[in-house]
Amino acid sequence: MDKVINGKDISEIIKLELKNEIKQLMVKPSLVVIQIGDDEASNLYVRNKERVAKEIGLSFNHFKYDITTTEEEIINKIKFLNNDEYTDGIIVQLPIPEKYNLKRIINYINPNKDVDGLTNISVGRLINNHKSLIPCTPKGIMELFDRYNIDVVGKNVVIVGRSILVGKPLLSILLNRDATVTICHSKTIDLKKHTKQADILIVAIGKKEFITHEYVKKGAIVIDVGINKENGKLYGDVDFKDVYGKVSLITPVPNGVGPMTVISLMKNTVNSYKNKK
Ligand code: NAP
Repeated sequence: MDKVINGKDISEIIKLELKNEIKQLMVKPSLVVIQIGDDEASNLYVRNKERVAKEIGLSFNHFKYDITTTEEEIINKIKFLNNDEYTDGIIVQLPIPEKYNLKRIINYINPNKDVDGLTNISVGRLINNHKSLIPCTPKGIMELFDRYNIDVVGKNVVIVGRSILVGKPLLSILLNRDATVTICHSKTIDLKKHTKQADILIVAIGKKEFITHEYVKKGAIVIDVGINKENGKLYGDVDFKDVYGKVSLITPVPNGVGPMTVISLMKNTVNSYKNKK
């Protein structure tokens, strides 16, 4: 069996599923992206989201604000979109310039339209295992587990990285799915001791090829979330070539978790539309 988990192929399958589902709907579900500033990477990510949204038949709106815009203007836009029956998903493209209070802005999003799953209410729902829209990268990883029949029940899952986008929501999702979860971070003493216990190792730290074979147990499944750009080339947080011989399954970078994140945003938008009905 091929050891490489092909996120690109799986995302294409989900794309088709969503496309067919959207065709049957009376109204196109709609995704709104709010961007503040002109960050180059964000411009690229937004264009990519727009391309995928349009490919599957979602309606896509992009509101881009320059940094002279006040926080209140952005919040007023969110309030308007919260009440707009034709808006199903709202996200604020991250990062935003430091002068804005990100948590305050995000928490104005109606949790039922919070397709990035970042409001306090969405986070609380997730922790309590209530129905919620879950952050896209963790959602994409769980989708990979499901499509590859990877059972997490009782398994030792070690997550390296505790961000609100990846590590923390994964902790809740995996606990809700009865995995035994350890979460590590930059202050963890003897990281290797923890990672070598992992049946499933998930790495999201933003450090190029940091995880080598010494960190990995033989036969482990390794999920590499990292995206590190160097001289126009993408690298994961895992040294793919170095660990390949030791693992049973592994996601590559690119074409692993990345495409799953984007398609999960689309799936959340369709789910938000269906929940409204
Ligand atoms: P982040 O906010 O940058 O946080 C990094 C986390 O890694 C922190 O919890 C930090 O610990 C921990 N960390 C850093 N160095 C470490 C070390 N040497 N040992 C152990 N832990 C360490 O993280 P993020 O936003 O989740 O992003 C992580 C990576 O994933 C980035 O490369 C990002 O580009 C990528 N990413 C990819 C996708 C995708 O779709 N594929 C989506 C999101 C993010 P402390 O908390 O102690 O500082």
